[in-house]
Amino acid sequence: MDKSAVSALYLLKNSPQVIKSNARSYTAQLIRSRGYSYVYRVGDYIVRIRAVGQMINKSNKDILLSCTCNFWKWNGPDFNAANQGYSERAFSNLSEPVVRDPHNQFLVCKHAYAALDQFRHDFPTN
Ligand SMILES: [Zn+2]
Repeated sequence: MDKSAVSALYLLKNSPQVIKSNARSYTAQLIRSRGYSYVYRVGDYIVRIRAVGQMINKSNKDILLSCTCNFWKWNGPDFNAANQGYSERAFSNLSEPVVRDPHNQFLVCKHAYAALDQFRHDFPTN
């Protein structure tokens, strides 16, 4: 598997409708940014976004991503992020969640979705 990062837009576009719908009830608040790292608070959880690689000065930046919630850890995003090269940090042992995400469709959780959406508003070149 290619370990290059992916764009925020790729993750937003390829997330299933249930994630998009559930994300609508959240507001993502940028609580810290340093260099190319951005930390959002979304509900009770922390979403970390890091812009990486040669895309850093271009539009549609590639990113690494993580969320501290249990859905991220166990229901697909943690595994998919590691497998597709956009993991900001791992929270699980990265075993494939064959029951909870059999089709590897949960690229992000609702918190990360809300944060990515806000990230693209806060930094429009992303
Ligand atoms: Zn989450």
